[in-house]
Amino acid sequence: MKLPGLISLLPVCCLAGAGEATIVYQLAERYAPYADWASWLDPAATAEEASPGWWQTPEAIRRGRSKAIRPLAGLHLALEPGHIGGAWAEWEGRHFRIEASDYWVREGELVLEVAQRATASLRRLGAQIDLLRKGCAPLNPKTFQDYWAAAQAESTPPTELSLKAQLAHALAVRDRAMRKAIITGELAERARLVNESIRPDAFISIHINAAPWPAAERKQLVDSDHTHVLIFGSLLDEELATPEQRARLVKKLMNGSGPIESELGEAMGEALAEATRLPASNYSGNNAVRLEGRSDYLWARNLMLLRLVDCPAVMLEPYIANSQSTYPRIQEALRARAHHEPLPKDDILNEYADAIVAGVKRAYAGQPL
Ligand SMILES: [Zn+2]
Repeated sequence: MKLPGLISLLPVCCLAGAGEATIVYQLAERYAPYADWASWLDPAATAEEASPGWWQTPEAIRRGRSKAIRPLAGLHLALEPGHIGGAWAEWEGRHFRIEASDYWVREGELVLEVAQRATASLRRLGAQIDLLRKGCAPLNPKTFQDYWAAAQAESTPPTELSLKAQLAHALAVRDRAMRKAIITGELAERARLVNESIRPDAFISIHINAAPWPAAERKQLVDSDHTHVLIFGSLLDEELATPEQRARLVKKLMNGSGPIESELGEAMGEALAEATRLPASNYSGNNAVRLEGRSDYLWARNLMLLRLVDCPAVMLEPYIANSQSTYPRIQEALRARAHHEPLPKDDILNEYADAIVAGVKRAYAGQPL
């Protein structure tokens, strides 16, 4: 954790200073390729909004390292196991199994173990790691009760006075307040911790992807399995219409996080591709975009956490948990753990953790090129 008083002494090597032409190119290629961005932003005025960050570039970290020390010395990362898991997994919609005899698949718990394993390996290589979540409890100090009034204001009260209608309304308000507490409120709190307290060189959010269920009536595994990495970008017109989202876009455009996200995102994408041997994911709509000249595994997308974290931020989305190829591997991983057996050589959680370490090394290890 860096103390505010020390910030001015740290090497800040990512002052953006992007000119108007660069901003136009970045908007057209990555940040708003499917939007009429010229209606919302003036590139010349945006170019005046330089907003330097606290983090070091991969190149500066490599340059500052002597040959004798460990390969990731000088690097400070925040690792975030996505979601919460445990008792919250059902509320999060990250809790499923196919057969009653199967182990429950809870994304928040699987990625917690992956993050813990990656943390131990990265520390051995000399990196300083802040693990955002160490158990299955929310970091957001507010509970659903704190969001009750906001949830109520967004819900239309029933016109009927029947007990049934009133009860259904109260439950809908409670569900909405709960989602605010453990999803949007939780993400905002995680971003606040990264920006105000941890202040790392980069932030890595760890997830396992899942596909929509093919049929609502019965849970059935899907046959496609793939991998990708996300960075911030691809805002749509309705998102640019929101002043808060526009302000975040200007901040991220001008604080120097963008090029590092592309570099780190590509390194993580290639490491995950090698480890999982899965094809790259595809988005068919306009809510995500590939970057020209970059790995097929890297996509830019406007997700809340990627938008709110100031420093370079990447989100990992390997595997499809409810696919025919990955689901049995997750079941095997859970079975081995439940029986305290030695983990199989191809343990999926080990494979994922090793891929994170390989990706971080690809981006940050070694001497200057
Ligand atoms: Zn997830």
